[in-house]
Amino acid sequence: MGRGRKETGFFGTVFAALTGGTTVRRTTTWTGKKKTIVTHWGSGKTKEYTHNDGFFGNKTTTKTTKNGHVVERGEVKKGFFGGTYETAKKVDGTKVERNYRSGFLTDYVTTKQSGTCHACDGKGTFSKQCSACGGEGQFALAGKCCANCAGTGLLIDGRVCPGCRGDGWWEKPGSSLCRACDGSGVHIETCRKCSGSGLYHYPR
Ligand SMILES: [Zn+2]
Ligand SMILES: [Zn+2]
Ligand SMILES: [Zn+2]
Repeated sequence: MGRGRKETGFFGTVFAALTGGTTVRRTTTWTGKKKTIVTHWGSGKTKEYTHNDGFFGNKTTTKTTKNGHVVERGEVKKGFFGGTYETAKKVDGTKVERNYRSGFLTDYVTTKQSGTCHACDGKGTFSKQCSACGGEGQFALAGKCCANCAGTGLLIDGRVCPGCRGDGWWEKPGSSLCRACDGSGVHIETCRKCSGSGLYHYPR
């Protein structure tokens, strides 16, 4: 009785913390490998445990799929001091460690994760386009035509306009540097999720 309950608990525990039902199915492949397939209907994930009764001892490998894509692969081992633990790797490189412990009324699972920060993709910072200048780093200044010669640079009698000395401008067009971004066009922000380290740990 104890063994059966423990096994169901162990394979079900990984999804037990999530809401929605789970289905546990056991099969044997044509090569004689035993598989336990746990489907969690809430998250749409399916976790497959392959039990290898191998030459070098028992080993259980795990494969988690979602919508037909593999999202995680791992290995289940017996802990040195009892209990069972799983080391796995997600497709994005995140390392996952789960410890399973059987309790009197319920089973427990503790999860540790570490990897690249998802929020900033491991960069630690975000560069955001400056909203003040739209990423240009400067503002265009239109300039003002010389009113004395209507911007032609010459008076009616053909003489050079004394107001603009012939260039037609009262104020030449130009640009001014955006002060909000110091002319760079971007704002660099530190990632709040990882405090700029680019790494992710759960629990912290
Ligand atoms: Zn980050
Ligand atoms: Zn002029
Ligand atoms: Zn700017």
